[in-house]
This record gives sequence, structure tokens and C-alpha cells, in this order.
Amino acid sequence: MTVGDAENLAFDGLPVPVVRVRGAVLRYVNPAALEMLEADSPDAVLGRSILDFVHPLDRVRIAKRLSRLEDKARRYRGVEMLIRTCRGELRGVSISATAASLPEDGVVAVAVDITRRRMKTYLRETERNVVRLFENTTDIYYRIDAQGKLLMASPAVERILGYHCDELLGRDSSIFYADPKDRDALIEVLLRDKRIADYEVRLRGKQGQLVDVSISSHALFDDEGNYIAVEGVIRDLTERKQLERRLRVLATADELTGICNRRVFFERATAALQRTQRQRRPMGLMILDIDWFKKINDRFGHLGGDGALRAFAKAVGSELRDVDLFGRLGGEEFGIVLEDCPVSEAQTVGERIRVCIENLRLTPREGEQLRMTVSIGATACQAEDVRIEALFERADRALYQAKQAGRNCIRWEGGGG
Ligand code: GH3
Ligand code: MG
Ligand code: MG
Repeated sequence: MTVGDAENLAFDGLPVPVVRVRGAVLRYVNPAALEMLEADSPDAVLGRSILDFVHPLDRVRIAKRLSRLEDKARRYRGVEMLIRTCRGELRGVSISATAASLPEDGVVAVAVDITRRRMKTYLRETERNVVRLFENTTDIYYRIDAQGKLLMASPAVERILGYHCDELLGRDSSIFYADPKDRDALIEVLLRDKRIADYEVRLRGKQGQLVDVSISSHALFDDEGNYIAVEGVIRDLTERKQLERRLRVLATADELTGICNRRVFFERATAALQRTQRQRRPMGLMILDIDWFKKINDRFGHLGGDGALRAFAKAVGSELRDVDLFGRLGGEEFGIVLEDCPVSEAQTVGERIRVCIENLRLTPREGEQLRMTVSIGATACQAEDVRIEALFERADRALYQAKQAGRNCIRWEGGGG
């Protein structure tokens, strides 16, 4: 029997908790310590690290002291910490520890339960942390009672919705919703699922401004299971929504002219063809190619050419209806889909565009005039057209004919003649 073993026998009878650790691992616990740790048997704790029981906030500090103790045969008195028992309860203890005379006997620690005193400080600290969070969080933390009256809102409500938090207490939460139906829907989900996460909704601020937010909240119930309040967090999505809108525009628009890009033009033209065929309605497709555009670039430089492309898109756009599809296919080539438009009308539109461009006068440099013309290849949708490519091929051939015929004109292939 070692000195340590003999000591342990003596500790067994002590009414105060005593533990022995080596390398932070629990080697011995007396019955009082077992009770303190709420362990059913010594096996439940022996062999485990003592740090497993120390509250995370105290763990680093205690680990340091423990290693110093083992190294230097020192003693500590009255080191306070929070521990969590095997049953998950928090307890405050004050530990006095000393290294055994033989290194293999490790460290002996005696604990005094100071839960009551320690919990008070712990609660005070926790409260301070919560208040700090409440006041400084960029989201709105709020609580609403079962009648829908606001019980509290954190100061962020001023930045996000323009209300001072005090003026809101007792007000009905429906004043926030741009559409009151949204609140009813939200409460319904909340009562059914008990909680909601990232529920996107539009609120109305004090000045009537619309604010996109996401709400995460949970319902609170009393001991009898009655619904008593809702508590949650409102996050401002304004910046994210703006970014999403910008990205959506960037993804669909041609950067130079702002009209839709080639990919989107094809997608929408395909959808238009499907609608047209389903409803047996007329539809026209035109490809526009600016004549001698290289010369414009040569004369006015690439930037001058860019300006001409923008002016061209704007002028053509002004000749079209809102429902017409207009996109840049690439370079100085554009496409137009005239949905639900008889051939005779499409011919008129094409001719109007041709004339409009012919009459366009630009002044990229002072005293110098830029004029341009456009050649247009057009086709009308046929009953047997199932793929949009068929229409593009015909319009392309028609465009080639227009160029061959001397430019500044329209040619049709497959209907429209
Ligand atoms: P054609 O009458 O036969 O159509 O003659 P063209 O000079 O227009 O011939 P082509 O279609 O071969 O040339 C188009 C030119 O457009 C070539 C290219 O340098 C120019 N281009 C393509 N994209 C851009 C652009 O984004 N900006 C500018 N400034 N020029 C472009
Ligand atoms: Mg071209
Ligand atoms: Mg060209």
C-alpha cells in the first residue's frame, strides 16, 4: 500500500469532498466528492479528466493552475470555479489543493460548496452579458405578449425601423407589417411549429418606408402549456436584398446597353415560341446587324463605337412595345421577338426601326456627325417550328440576303415574304 492509498482510506471517512488527480485525470474520489459531482458510482468519474467537470469559462484558468501544481509542488487555497455535475447541475466550489509528496500520488484537492454565493455572481455576470448583447446587437431582439402587444424591443429598432424602443412598448405588433396578413401567417406557423427560422417578410418603418427583414422567433408557454408570448430576432435584409437585385440585373442584362443579354434572350425567345405554338398565335423574330460597324470603330475609336451601340439600343427600344423581347446577341448584332404580332404588323415595325436608325444623328465628337444604317433578317413562326433555332437559322439567312442586297433593308424568309 502506498502512502497515497493510506491517505485515501482516511479521506473515505471525511465529510468534505476530497479528490486526487494525476495529470488532470481523476484517480480517487471520496463519498462526499461523489455526492458533490452527483455521480452514481466511482466508476462514473474515475479515469475522467477533472476539467470535464469545470465550466468552460473557468477551464483554461484551472488547467493552468493544475499543471503548475503538479510541476512545482505548490499549494492553492480557495480557488473558486463553477463545475457541472454528472446530472448537468451547475455548482460553485472553492478548492484547496496541494501536491502529494510523491509525484506518483498526484494532487489532492479538497472542495467547499459555495454554490449560493457563486451563483449570485454568475447570474450577475450573465445578466450583464445579456444586457450588453441586447443593447449592442445589430438585430432587433423583441418580445410580444399573447395579445400581440410589444413587451420589449432592443435599441436596434431605431436604426432599422426608425422607432425609439420606448415609444413602442405596449403598441400592437401589427403596426410593423407592410401587409397585416403576413403577421397572421407568421403567428399561425409559430403556434403550429413553436418556432420559425429566417422567415422573410416586409415591414413598415416609422416613416412608412418598407424594410425587408428576416424573423426568427419562438413561442413561449407557461407551465400549463398556455401560449404567453413570442420572443425573437429581426434581422435587416435591406443590403442583402439590394445586392440580390443588382446581381439579378447583372445576370440578365447586357452590360453595355442594359437590354437583355444573349443567354436570357434565347431563354425568353424559347418560352415565347412555346406560348405561341400552344395558343396558335403569330410571332416574328428579327436579327438586326449594324452596317459597316467596323468603320464606326475605326473612325471614332472603340469608345465611340460603344456609344453608338448604346444609342442604337435605345433608339430601337423606343420603337418597341413593352411586351416585345429585345436583346443583344453579341457585337453589333441584336434580336427582337414580336410575340402575338401578325406578319403585316411585324413588317411595319421592322421598317419603322430601319428608318429610325437611318435618321439617327449622333455627335460622338464635337462638329462630327455619326450616322448608321441597319440590316434586318426576319422570319415568322411556322406551324412546324418546335425549336427556336429553326427561326434563328431562317432569320440569319434573311440577314445575309439583306447584306447582299446592299444593306439598310429588311429581308424575310419563311413567311412575311
Ligand atoms: P457588315 O455591314 O457586313 O455587318 O459590316 P461590319 O463592319 O458591321 O462587320 P462585322 O459584323 O464583321 O463587324 C462588327 C464589328 O463590331 C467588329 C467588332 O470590332 C465590333 N464590335 C463588336 N463588339 C463590339 C463592342 O462591344 N464595342 C465596339 N465598339 N465594337 C464592337
Ligand atoms: Mg456583325
Ligand atoms: Mg455589322
